Amino acid sequence: MNQNKLFRLTRIRLALYYAIVMGLILSLCAFGFYRSVFHAHVVALDSEIESVAGTLHDSIELKLKSPGRLEPLVSQLLPNQGNCEGEASNCIQQPHSKRHLLGIVTKTSYYVRFFDISGKLIANVGYHPEGLPNVFNPQTWQFLKDNQGKEYHQITLSLHTQDYQDWGYMQVGRSLEEFNHYLDSVKLILGLGLPIAMVMIAGASWWLSGLAMQPVYQSYRQIQQFTADAAHELRTPLAATSATVESALLMTQIDPEETRDILQTIHRQNQRMTALVVDLLMLARLDRHQKLQREFCCLNDIVSDLIEEFAAMATTAGVKLISSIQVNQDVNIIGNSDQLYRLVSNLIVNAIQYTPRGGKVTVVLDRNDHDAVIKVQDTGIGIPKQELNRIFDRFYRVSSDRSRITGGSGLGLAIVQAITQAHHGSIDVQSELSKGSTFTVKLRAMMRYTEKSALQI
Ligand code: ADP
Repeated sequence: MNQNKLFRLTRIRLALYYAIVMGLILSLCAFGFYRSVFHAHVVALDSEIESVAGTLHDSIELKLKSPGRLEPLVSQLLPNQGNCEGEASNCIQQPHSKRHLLGIVTKTSYYVRFFDISGKLIANVGYHPEGLPNVFNPQTWQFLKDNQGKEYHQITLSLHTQDYQDWGYMQVGRSLEEFNHYLDSVKLILGLGLPIAMVMIAGASWWLSGLAMQPVYQSYRQIQQFTADAAHELRTPLAATSATVESALLMTQIDPEETRDILQTIHRQNQRMTALVVDLLMLARLDRHQKLQREFCCLNDIVSDLIEEFAAMATTAGVKLISSIQVNQDVNIIGNSDQLYRLVSNLIVNAIQYTPRGGKVTVVLDRNDHDAVIKVQDTGIGIPKQELNRIFDRFYRVSSDRSRITGGSGLGLAIVQAITQAHHGSIDVQSELSKGSTFTVKLRAMMRYTEKSALQI
Protein backbone atom coordinates (compact mmCIF):
# COMPACT_ATOMS: atom_id res chain seq x y z
CA MET A 1 0.00 0.00 0.00
CA ASN A 2 2.85 2.42 0.85
CA GLN A 3 4.33 2.03 -2.62
CA ASN A 4 1.24 3.62 -4.11
CA LYS A 5 1.63 7.41 -3.84
CA LEU A 6 -2.10 8.14 -3.56
CA PHE A 7 -2.60 5.59 -0.79
CA ARG A 8 0.57 6.63 1.04
CA LEU A 9 -0.47 10.29 1.04
CA THR A 10 -4.02 9.42 2.11
CA ARG A 11 -2.67 7.24 4.90
CA ILE A 12 -0.38 10.03 6.12
CA ARG A 13 -3.24 12.55 5.98
CA LEU A 14 -5.60 10.18 7.79
CA ALA A 15 -3.01 9.43 10.48
CA LEU A 16 -2.29 13.15 10.88
CA TYR A 17 -5.95 14.14 11.26
CA TYR A 18 -6.50 11.29 13.68
CA ALA A 19 -3.44 12.26 15.75
CA ILE A 20 -4.50 15.95 15.78
CA VAL A 21 -8.04 15.13 16.90
CA MET A 22 -6.82 12.65 19.50
CA GLY A 23 -4.18 15.16 20.66
CA LEU A 24 -6.83 17.86 21.08
CA ILE A 25 -9.14 15.51 22.97
CA LEU A 26 -6.28 14.38 25.18
CA SER A 27 -5.16 17.98 25.86
CA LEU A 28 -8.72 18.92 26.79
CA CYS A 29 -8.91 15.89 29.10
CA ALA A 30 -5.55 16.82 30.69
CA PHE A 31 -6.72 20.41 31.16
CA GLY A 32 -10.02 19.20 32.65
CA PHE A 33 -8.13 16.84 34.98
CA TYR A 34 -5.80 19.65 36.08
CA ARG A 35 -8.72 22.02 36.70
CA SER A 36 -10.60 19.42 38.74
CA VAL A 37 -7.48 18.63 40.84
CA PHE A 38 -6.98 22.37 41.35
CA HIS A 39 -10.62 22.90 42.28
CA ALA A 40 -10.70 19.92 44.67
CA HIS A 41 -7.58 21.22 46.45
CA VAL A 42 -8.87 24.79 46.68
CA VAL A 43 -12.13 23.50 48.19
CA ALA A 44 -10.19 21.32 50.67
CA LEU A 45 -7.91 24.24 51.50
CA ASP A 46 -10.83 26.64 52.00
CA SER A 47 -12.57 24.29 54.38
CA GLU A 48 -9.33 23.69 56.31
CA ILE A 49 -8.71 27.44 56.66
CA GLU A 50 -12.38 28.01 57.52
CA SER A 51 -12.29 25.37 60.24
CA VAL A 52 -9.04 26.72 61.76
CA ALA A 53 -10.38 30.28 61.59
CA GLY A 54 -13.72 29.22 63.07
CA THR A 55 -12.09 27.42 66.01
CA LEU A 56 -9.84 30.42 66.72
CA HIS A 57 -12.71 32.86 66.33
CA ASP A 58 -14.96 30.95 68.75
CA SER A 59 -12.18 30.49 71.34
CA ILE A 60 -11.04 34.09 71.22
CA GLU A 61 -14.32 35.96 70.91
CA LEU A 62 -15.57 34.71 74.32
CA LYS A 63 -12.59 36.32 76.02
CA LEU A 64 -12.56 39.75 74.35
CA LYS A 65 -13.66 42.58 76.66
CA SER A 66 -12.82 45.94 75.07
CA PRO A 67 -12.59 46.81 71.33
CA GLY A 68 -9.13 46.66 69.75
CA ARG A 69 -7.46 45.15 72.86
CA LEU A 70 -6.15 41.58 73.16
CA GLU A 71 -6.67 40.32 76.70
CA PRO A 72 -3.74 38.50 78.42
CA LEU A 73 -5.92 35.37 78.51
CA VAL A 74 -6.15 35.50 74.72
CA SER A 75 -2.39 35.95 74.43
CA GLN A 76 -1.95 32.71 76.38
CA LEU A 77 -4.08 30.89 73.81
CA LEU A 78 -2.00 32.15 70.93
CA PRO A 79 1.59 30.97 70.61
CA ASN A 80 4.23 33.11 68.90
CA GLN A 81 2.21 36.25 69.33
CA GLY A 82 3.83 39.47 68.17
CA ASN A 83 2.71 42.81 69.55
CA CYS A 84 2.17 45.45 66.92
CA GLU A 85 1.18 48.38 69.09
CA GLY A 86 2.65 51.53 67.49
CA GLU A 87 4.26 50.92 64.07
CA ALA A 88 2.75 47.91 62.32
CA SER A 89 6.15 46.96 60.90
CA ASN A 90 7.56 46.71 64.44
CA CYS A 91 5.46 43.65 65.28
CA ILE A 92 7.83 41.61 67.42
CA GLN A 93 7.13 37.99 67.88
CA GLN A 94 7.66 36.52 71.28
CA PRO A 95 9.50 33.26 71.54
CA HIS A 96 7.31 30.15 71.88
CA SER A 97 4.67 30.78 74.42
CA LYS A 98 4.13 28.47 77.30
CA ARG A 99 0.74 27.18 76.20
CA HIS A 100 0.09 25.70 72.78
CA LEU A 101 -3.64 25.42 72.89
CA LEU A 102 -4.14 26.14 69.23
CA GLY A 103 -1.52 23.87 67.81
CA ILE A 104 -2.46 24.40 64.18
CA VAL A 105 -1.22 27.97 64.36
CA THR A 106 2.23 26.74 65.29
CA LYS A 107 2.49 25.14 61.88
CA THR A 108 4.78 27.23 59.72
CA SER A 109 2.18 27.43 56.99
CA TYR A 110 -0.39 29.41 59.03
CA TYR A 111 -0.50 32.98 60.27
CA VAL A 112 -3.17 34.93 62.18
CA ARG A 113 -3.46 38.73 62.21
CA PHE A 114 -5.64 40.96 64.35
CA PHE A 115 -6.86 44.36 63.18
CA ASP A 116 -8.82 46.88 65.21
CA ILE A 117 -12.07 48.37 63.96
CA SER A 118 -10.18 51.11 62.06
CA GLY A 119 -8.15 48.46 60.17
CA LYS A 120 -4.92 49.00 62.11
CA LEU A 121 -2.77 45.86 62.65
CA ILE A 122 -2.67 45.05 66.37
CA ALA A 123 -0.94 41.69 66.52
CA ASN A 124 0.06 38.71 64.49
CA VAL A 125 0.40 35.10 65.51
CA GLY A 126 2.29 32.12 64.16
CA TYR A 127 4.50 32.26 61.12
CA HIS A 128 4.52 35.76 59.70
CA PRO A 129 5.40 36.03 56.02
CA GLU A 130 7.75 38.86 55.20
CA GLY A 131 6.42 41.69 53.09
CA LEU A 132 2.79 40.68 53.32
CA PRO A 133 0.71 43.87 52.88
CA ASN A 134 -0.36 45.14 56.31
CA VAL A 135 -3.13 47.26 54.86
CA PHE A 136 -6.46 45.86 55.99
CA ASN A 137 -8.76 44.52 53.29
CA PRO A 138 -12.22 43.50 54.52
CA GLN A 139 -12.85 41.01 51.67
CA THR A 140 -13.66 37.58 53.14
CA TRP A 141 -11.47 35.44 50.86
CA GLN A 142 -8.23 36.76 49.39
CA PHE A 143 -5.15 35.48 47.58
CA LEU A 144 -2.00 37.40 48.63
CA LYS A 145 1.69 37.40 47.72
CA ASP A 146 4.63 38.26 49.98
CA ASN A 147 7.72 40.07 48.71
CA GLN A 148 9.35 36.74 47.77
CA GLY A 149 6.46 35.97 45.50
CA LYS A 150 5.07 33.23 47.79
CA GLU A 151 1.30 32.94 47.66
CA TYR A 152 -1.17 32.87 50.58
CA HIS A 153 -4.86 32.25 50.88
CA GLN A 154 -6.56 34.22 53.63
CA ILE A 155 -9.95 34.52 55.32
CA THR A 156 -11.13 37.63 57.21
CA LEU A 157 -13.63 37.32 60.09
CA SER A 158 -15.02 40.09 62.30
CA LEU A 159 -14.62 39.78 66.08
CA HIS A 160 -16.97 41.03 68.82
CA THR A 161 -16.50 41.64 72.51
CA GLN A 162 -18.36 39.78 75.24
CA ASP A 163 -21.01 42.54 75.24
CA TYR A 164 -21.51 42.36 71.44
CA GLN A 165 -19.53 45.46 70.56
CA ASP A 166 -17.44 45.38 67.38
CA TRP A 167 -13.91 44.45 68.48
CA GLY A 168 -12.13 44.40 65.11
CA TYR A 169 -11.04 41.69 62.64
CA MET A 170 -9.09 38.52 62.55
CA GLN A 171 -7.34 37.26 59.41
CA VAL A 172 -6.25 33.64 59.15
CA GLY A 173 -3.98 32.83 56.22
CA ARG A 174 -2.24 29.77 54.91
CA SER A 175 0.81 29.51 52.73
CA LEU A 176 0.08 27.98 49.31
CA GLU A 177 3.65 26.73 48.89
CA GLU A 178 2.78 23.06 49.52
CA PHE A 179 -0.31 23.37 47.35
CA ASN A 180 1.66 25.01 44.50
CA HIS A 181 4.36 22.34 44.74
CA TYR A 182 1.72 19.69 44.34
CA LEU A 183 0.16 21.50 41.36
CA ASP A 184 3.61 21.95 39.81
CA SER A 185 4.25 18.21 40.02
CA VAL A 186 0.80 17.53 38.46
CA LYS A 187 1.67 20.00 35.66
CA LEU A 188 5.07 18.31 35.18
CA ILE A 189 3.49 14.86 34.93
CA LEU A 190 0.90 16.13 32.46
CA GLY A 191 3.49 18.14 30.52
CA LEU A 192 5.79 15.13 30.17
CA GLY A 193 2.98 12.61 29.74
CA LEU A 194 1.24 14.53 26.96
CA PRO A 195 4.14 14.46 24.43
CA ILE A 196 4.78 10.78 25.22
CA ALA A 197 1.08 10.06 24.71
CA MET A 198 1.17 12.09 21.47
CA VAL A 199 4.06 10.00 20.12
CA MET A 200 2.13 6.84 21.00
CA ILE A 201 -1.04 8.25 19.40
CA ALA A 202 0.90 9.13 16.24
CA GLY A 203 2.17 5.52 16.03
CA ALA A 204 -1.29 4.11 16.72
CA SER A 205 -2.84 6.50 14.14
CA TRP A 206 -0.41 5.33 11.48
CA TRP A 207 -1.17 1.69 12.25
CA LEU A 208 -4.96 2.23 12.49
CA SER A 209 -5.12 4.26 9.27
CA GLY A 210 -3.26 1.43 7.53
CA LEU A 211 -5.74 -1.04 8.95
CA ALA A 212 -8.74 1.09 7.89
CA MET A 213 -7.38 1.55 4.39
CA GLN A 214 -6.53 -2.10 3.83
CA PRO A 215 -10.02 -3.09 2.54
CA VAL A 216 -10.16 0.03 0.34
CA TYR A 217 -6.74 -0.81 -1.05
CA GLN A 218 -7.81 -4.42 -1.62
CA SER A 219 -10.88 -3.36 -3.62
CA TYR A 220 -8.76 -0.80 -5.50
CA ARG A 221 -6.38 -3.62 -6.46
CA GLN A 222 -9.33 -5.80 -7.46
CA ILE A 223 -10.75 -3.03 -9.65
CA GLN A 224 -7.32 -2.52 -11.21
CA GLN A 225 -7.01 -6.26 -11.84
CA PHE A 226 -10.58 -6.40 -13.14
CA THR A 227 -9.98 -3.52 -15.59
CA ALA A 228 -6.72 -5.11 -16.80
CA ASP A 229 -8.44 -8.52 -17.23
CA ALA A 230 -11.43 -7.00 -19.04
CA ALA A 231 -9.13 -5.06 -21.36
CA HIS A 232 -7.11 -8.23 -21.97
CA GLU A 233 -10.25 -10.25 -22.77
CA LEU A 234 -11.50 -7.60 -25.20
CA ARG A 235 -8.11 -7.25 -26.87
CA THR A 236 -8.11 -10.85 -28.19
CA PRO A 237 -11.31 -10.64 -30.32
CA LEU A 238 -10.45 -7.06 -31.33
CA ALA A 239 -6.99 -8.14 -32.50
CA ALA A 240 -8.49 -11.11 -34.37
CA THR A 241 -11.08 -8.86 -36.05
CA SER A 242 -8.54 -6.24 -37.04
CA ALA A 243 -6.09 -8.90 -38.38
CA THR A 244 -8.88 -10.44 -40.48
CA VAL A 245 -9.94 -7.04 -41.87
CA GLU A 246 -6.31 -6.00 -42.56
CA SER A 247 -5.57 -9.21 -44.48
CA ALA A 248 -8.83 -8.80 -46.44
CA LEU A 249 -7.84 -5.23 -47.35
CA LEU A 250 -4.49 -6.46 -48.70
CA MET A 251 -6.25 -8.79 -51.14
CA THR A 252 -6.80 -7.28 -54.57
CA GLN A 253 -9.71 -9.53 -55.28
CA ILE A 254 -11.89 -11.48 -52.86
CA ASP A 255 -14.14 -14.24 -54.04
CA PRO A 256 -17.56 -14.74 -52.40
CA GLU A 257 -16.39 -17.83 -50.49
CA GLU A 258 -13.51 -15.91 -48.86
CA THR A 259 -15.78 -12.96 -48.11
CA ARG A 260 -18.13 -15.30 -46.32
CA ASP A 261 -15.25 -16.75 -44.24
CA ILE A 262 -14.02 -13.27 -43.33
CA LEU A 263 -17.49 -12.13 -42.30
CA GLN A 264 -18.00 -15.30 -40.26
CA THR A 265 -14.74 -14.69 -38.38
CA ILE A 266 -15.71 -11.08 -37.68
CA HIS A 267 -19.17 -12.17 -36.60
CA ARG A 268 -17.72 -14.82 -34.25
CA GLN A 269 -15.34 -12.36 -32.64
CA ASN A 270 -18.13 -9.82 -32.42
CA GLN A 271 -20.35 -12.36 -30.66
CA ARG A 272 -17.52 -13.10 -28.23
CA MET A 273 -17.14 -9.42 -27.44
CA THR A 274 -20.88 -8.96 -27.10
CA ALA A 275 -21.10 -11.91 -24.70
CA LEU A 276 -18.24 -10.47 -22.67
CA VAL A 277 -19.81 -7.00 -22.53
CA VAL A 278 -23.19 -8.50 -21.56
CA ASP A 279 -21.50 -10.45 -18.75
CA LEU A 280 -19.63 -7.36 -17.55
CA LEU A 281 -22.81 -5.29 -17.59
CA MET A 282 -24.65 -7.96 -15.66
CA LEU A 283 -21.92 -8.10 -13.01
CA ALA A 284 -21.86 -4.30 -12.79
CA ARG A 285 -25.63 -4.26 -12.27
CA LEU A 286 -25.42 -7.01 -9.64
CA ASP A 287 -22.60 -5.13 -7.90
CA ARG A 288 -24.76 -2.02 -7.63
CA HIS A 289 -27.27 -4.11 -5.63
CA GLN A 290 -30.08 -2.63 -7.69
CA LYS A 291 -33.49 -3.67 -6.50
CA LEU A 292 -34.44 -6.77 -8.48
CA GLN A 293 -37.71 -7.11 -10.25
CA ARG A 294 -38.94 -10.14 -8.33
CA GLU A 295 -41.69 -12.50 -9.26
CA PHE A 296 -43.02 -15.91 -8.49
CA CYS A 297 -40.61 -18.44 -10.08
CA CYS A 298 -41.18 -22.16 -10.38
CA LEU A 299 -37.80 -23.89 -10.31
CA ASN A 300 -39.28 -27.10 -11.78
CA ASP A 301 -40.14 -25.10 -14.95
CA ILE A 302 -36.73 -23.46 -15.08
CA VAL A 303 -34.90 -26.80 -14.76
CA SER A 304 -37.04 -28.60 -17.36
CA ASP A 305 -36.80 -25.63 -19.80
CA LEU A 306 -33.01 -25.58 -19.51
CA ILE A 307 -32.68 -29.36 -19.87
CA GLU A 308 -34.63 -29.02 -23.09
CA GLU A 309 -32.58 -26.01 -24.23
CA PHE A 310 -29.18 -27.64 -23.67
CA ALA A 311 -30.13 -31.12 -24.90
CA ALA A 312 -28.69 -30.41 -28.35
CA MET A 313 -25.48 -28.97 -26.93
CA ALA A 314 -25.06 -32.02 -24.68
CA THR A 315 -25.65 -34.38 -27.58
CA THR A 316 -23.04 -32.57 -29.66
CA ALA A 317 -20.61 -32.84 -26.76
CA GLY A 318 -21.40 -36.54 -26.33
CA VAL A 319 -22.65 -35.97 -22.79
CA LYS A 320 -25.85 -37.36 -21.27
CA LEU A 321 -27.92 -34.52 -19.74
CA ILE A 322 -30.70 -35.55 -17.37
CA SER A 323 -32.78 -34.00 -14.62
CA SER A 324 -33.69 -35.54 -11.29
CA ILE A 325 -36.65 -33.85 -9.62
CA GLN A 326 -36.81 -35.21 -6.07
CA VAL A 327 -39.97 -33.44 -4.94
CA ASN A 328 -43.58 -34.24 -5.65
CA GLN A 329 -44.73 -30.65 -5.59
CA ASP A 330 -43.45 -27.59 -7.39
CA VAL A 331 -40.55 -25.78 -5.73
CA ASN A 332 -41.27 -22.05 -5.89
CA ILE A 333 -39.18 -19.10 -4.95
CA ILE A 334 -39.54 -15.33 -5.18
CA GLY A 335 -36.81 -14.05 -7.46
CA ASN A 336 -35.83 -12.71 -10.82
CA SER A 337 -36.54 -15.41 -13.39
CA ASP A 338 -34.05 -14.07 -16.01
CA GLN A 339 -31.28 -14.21 -13.46
CA LEU A 340 -32.32 -17.64 -12.18
CA TYR A 341 -32.28 -18.97 -15.76
CA ARG A 342 -28.80 -17.47 -16.12
CA LEU A 343 -27.62 -19.04 -12.87
CA VAL A 344 -28.70 -22.58 -13.71
CA SER A 345 -27.69 -22.32 -17.38
CA ASN A 346 -24.15 -21.18 -16.50
CA LEU A 347 -23.76 -24.24 -14.26
CA ILE A 348 -25.17 -26.60 -16.90
CA VAL A 349 -22.98 -25.11 -19.66
CA ASN A 350 -19.87 -25.48 -17.49
CA ALA A 351 -20.80 -29.05 -16.56
CA ILE A 352 -21.24 -30.00 -20.25
CA GLN A 353 -18.05 -28.18 -21.31
CA TYR A 354 -15.87 -29.72 -18.63
CA THR A 355 -17.19 -33.28 -19.02
CA PRO A 356 -15.51 -35.52 -21.60
CA ARG A 357 -17.55 -37.49 -24.15
CA GLY A 358 -19.49 -40.36 -22.62
CA GLY A 359 -19.94 -38.50 -19.34
CA LYS A 360 -23.12 -37.54 -17.56
CA VAL A 361 -24.56 -34.28 -16.25
CA THR A 362 -27.45 -34.44 -13.77
CA VAL A 363 -29.50 -31.46 -12.65
CA VAL A 364 -31.11 -32.28 -9.30
CA LEU A 365 -33.98 -30.27 -7.84
CA ASP A 366 -34.83 -30.85 -4.20
CA ARG A 367 -35.93 -28.91 -1.15
CA ASN A 368 -35.24 -29.07 2.56
CA ASP A 369 -37.23 -27.35 5.30
CA HIS A 370 -36.66 -23.80 4.11
CA ASP A 371 -34.53 -23.97 0.99
CA ALA A 372 -34.87 -24.95 -2.60
CA VAL A 373 -31.79 -26.96 -3.56
CA ILE A 374 -30.43 -27.10 -7.11
CA LYS A 375 -27.49 -29.42 -7.73
CA VAL A 376 -25.59 -29.65 -10.99
CA GLN A 377 -23.51 -32.85 -10.91
CA ASP A 378 -21.12 -33.98 -13.61
CA THR A 379 -18.69 -36.81 -14.16
CA GLY A 380 -16.18 -34.43 -15.71
CA ILE A 381 -12.57 -33.41 -15.28
CA GLY A 382 -13.04 -32.05 -11.75
CA ILE A 383 -11.30 -29.07 -10.13
CA PRO A 384 -8.06 -29.27 -8.12
CA LYS A 385 -8.67 -28.71 -4.38
CA GLN A 386 -6.35 -25.67 -4.19
CA GLU A 387 -8.35 -23.94 -6.96
CA LEU A 388 -11.78 -24.45 -5.39
CA ASN A 389 -11.81 -21.14 -3.51
CA ARG A 390 -10.65 -19.16 -6.57
CA ILE A 391 -13.02 -20.39 -9.27
CA PHE A 392 -15.65 -17.78 -8.31
CA ASP A 393 -13.14 -14.92 -8.87
CA ARG A 394 -13.74 -12.78 -11.92
CA PHE A 395 -11.80 -13.87 -15.02
CA TYR A 396 -10.29 -16.79 -13.13
CA ARG A 397 -9.85 -19.97 -15.09
CA VAL A 398 -8.43 -23.20 -13.71
CA SER A 399 -7.01 -24.40 -16.96
CA SER A 400 -6.82 -21.43 -19.28
CA ASP A 401 -6.12 -23.55 -22.35
CA ARG A 402 -9.25 -25.61 -21.99
CA SER A 403 -11.31 -22.52 -21.12
CA ARG A 404 -10.11 -20.82 -24.26
CA ILE A 405 -11.18 -23.81 -26.34
CA THR A 406 -14.62 -23.64 -24.71
CA GLY A 407 -14.67 -19.88 -25.27
CA GLY A 408 -15.03 -19.19 -21.55
CA SER A 409 -13.96 -15.83 -20.19
CA GLY A 410 -13.88 -16.79 -16.50
CA LEU A 411 -16.96 -14.74 -15.63
CA GLY A 412 -19.53 -17.56 -15.59
CA LEU A 413 -19.15 -18.62 -11.95
CA ALA A 414 -18.66 -15.02 -10.79
CA ILE A 415 -22.10 -14.28 -12.25
CA VAL A 416 -23.56 -17.43 -10.63
CA GLN A 417 -22.22 -16.32 -7.24
CA ALA A 418 -23.45 -12.73 -7.66
CA ILE A 419 -26.97 -13.90 -8.61
CA THR A 420 -27.06 -16.33 -5.66
CA GLN A 421 -26.05 -13.52 -3.30
CA ALA A 422 -28.65 -11.18 -4.82
CA HIS A 423 -31.24 -13.84 -3.94
CA HIS A 424 -29.80 -14.22 -0.40
CA GLY A 425 -28.81 -17.81 -1.17
CA SER A 426 -25.60 -19.79 -0.90
CA ILE A 427 -23.41 -21.76 -3.29
CA ASP A 428 -21.09 -24.60 -2.54
CA VAL A 429 -18.84 -26.77 -4.69
CA GLN A 430 -17.44 -30.24 -4.21
CA SER A 431 -15.09 -31.70 -6.71
CA GLU A 432 -12.62 -34.51 -7.28
CA LEU A 433 -10.09 -34.48 -10.06
CA SER A 434 -11.05 -36.80 -12.96
CA LYS A 435 -14.22 -37.87 -11.15
CA GLY A 436 -16.47 -34.86 -11.42
CA SER A 437 -17.90 -31.84 -9.69
CA THR A 438 -21.13 -30.94 -7.89
CA PHE A 439 -22.29 -27.34 -7.59
CA THR A 440 -25.04 -26.90 -4.96
CA VAL A 441 -27.14 -23.74 -4.85
CA LYS A 442 -29.57 -23.13 -1.99
CA LEU A 443 -32.25 -20.46 -2.32
CA ARG A 444 -34.95 -19.48 0.18
CA ALA A 445 -38.07 -21.40 -0.96
CA MET A 446 -41.68 -20.36 -0.57
CA MET A 447 -43.77 -22.36 1.89
CA ARG A 448 -45.67 -25.26 0.46
CA TYR A 449 -49.37 -24.67 0.01
CA THR A 450 -50.20 -27.41 2.51
CA GLU A 451 -47.86 -25.95 5.13
CA LYS A 452 -49.37 -22.53 4.58
CA SER A 453 -52.88 -23.82 5.11
CA ALA A 454 -51.80 -25.74 8.20
CA LEU A 455 -50.38 -22.54 9.63
CA GLN A 456 -53.56 -20.63 8.83
CA ILE A 457 -55.66 -23.23 10.69
P1 ADP B 1 -15.32 -20.13 -17.82
O1 ADP B 1 -16.10 -19.18 -18.60
O2 ADP B 1 -13.87 -20.11 -18.12
O3 ADP B 1 -15.91 -21.49 -17.79
P2 ADP B 1 -16.26 -19.92 -15.14
O4 ADP B 1 -16.26 -18.78 -14.23
O5 ADP B 1 -17.57 -20.47 -15.53
O6 ADP B 1 -15.39 -19.52 -16.36
O7 ADP B 1 -15.43 -21.05 -14.45
C1 ADP B 1 -14.19 -20.77 -13.90
C2 ADP B 1 -13.28 -22.00 -13.97
O8 ADP B 1 -13.81 -23.00 -13.15
C3 ADP B 1 -13.21 -22.59 -15.35
O9 ADP B 1 -12.11 -22.07 -16.06
C4 ADP B 1 -13.05 -24.07 -15.12
O10 ADP B 1 -11.69 -24.39 -15.10
C5 ADP B 1 -13.59 -24.28 -13.72
N1 ADP B 1 -14.92 -24.99 -13.78
C6 ADP B 1 -16.14 -24.43 -13.73
N2 ADP B 1 -17.11 -25.36 -13.75
C7 ADP B 1 -16.46 -26.55 -13.82
C8 ADP B 1 -16.90 -27.91 -13.89
N3 ADP B 1 -18.19 -28.24 -13.87
N4 ADP B 1 -15.95 -28.87 -13.96
C9 ADP B 1 -14.63 -28.56 -13.97
N5 ADP B 1 -14.16 -27.30 -13.91
C10 ADP B 1 -15.06 -26.31 -13.84
